[in-house]
Amino acid sequence: MTSHAARDADGSGMTSLRARERLVESLRANGIRDERVLEAMRSVPRHLFIDEALASRAYEDTALPIGRGQTISQPWVVARMTEALLEAGARGKVLEIGTGSGYQAAVLAALVDDVYSVERIDELQRAARRRFRALGLRNIHCRHDDGRIGWAEHAPYDGILVTAAASALDPELLRQLSPQGVLVAPVGEPGMQRLMRWSAKTGDWQPEVLGAVSFVPLLGGTA
Ligand code: SAH
Repeated sequence: MTSHAARDADGSGMTSLRARERLVESLRANGIRDERVLEAMRSVPRHLFIDEALASRAYEDTALPIGRGQTISQPWVVARMTEALLEAGARGKVLEIGTGSGYQAAVLAALVDDVYSVERIDELQRAARRRFRALGLRNIHCRHDDGRIGWAEHAPYDGILVTAAASALDPELLRQLSPQGVLVAPVGEPGMQRLMRWSAKTGDWQPEVLGAVSFVPLLGGTA
């Protein structure tokens, strides 16, 4: 395909392909090692998960607003969380709390069998569903609900990813993990959140600290 054809095909300019390549190189330079994750980040068109007015910034390694006071996560954080799940062996069913734009779910959908994603804001959840449909991503299952207590109906999960921060997680979430499962979540108050990983490997469900992060808060109820 020529670069001109690429521009016509995705309608957003050939820069999106080049910009995605550059983003992947910067993720690699910043310590993302898993080639499967880098390939997924290369293949998912992040510009389709944000408002057109911000599309020119889609491949910057930064969080961006998606409305209703929420954000699409920074690509490096999406890559790191995805890598942290795969490292611990999660390849089957993965639960995501906080669908938001749907970008993290789309990256996961390229790497695991099924993604179950819960979002408390109906408007965001509906927009994400439309994107999944348009992109033909049939292995993402959405639910409009308060995800603090997971999605029991499809448990157990091989992996659970929480993409909003809480000072503590409901123990019910850990109960929805399979015995070999892994849970990755940002925990802590604004300004001092840490990305944590609980997995069977760490023993006694003692979490590992993966690094400092900054997420919007995990809130109760639906909207
Ligand atoms: N994974 C998203 C990140 C979105 S930001 C992406 O890739 O775009 C976090 C999202 O979590 C927000 O959309 C917010 O509304 C949602 N959220 C916060 N508390 C929640 C809860 N209790 N249950 C479900 N979703 C929640």
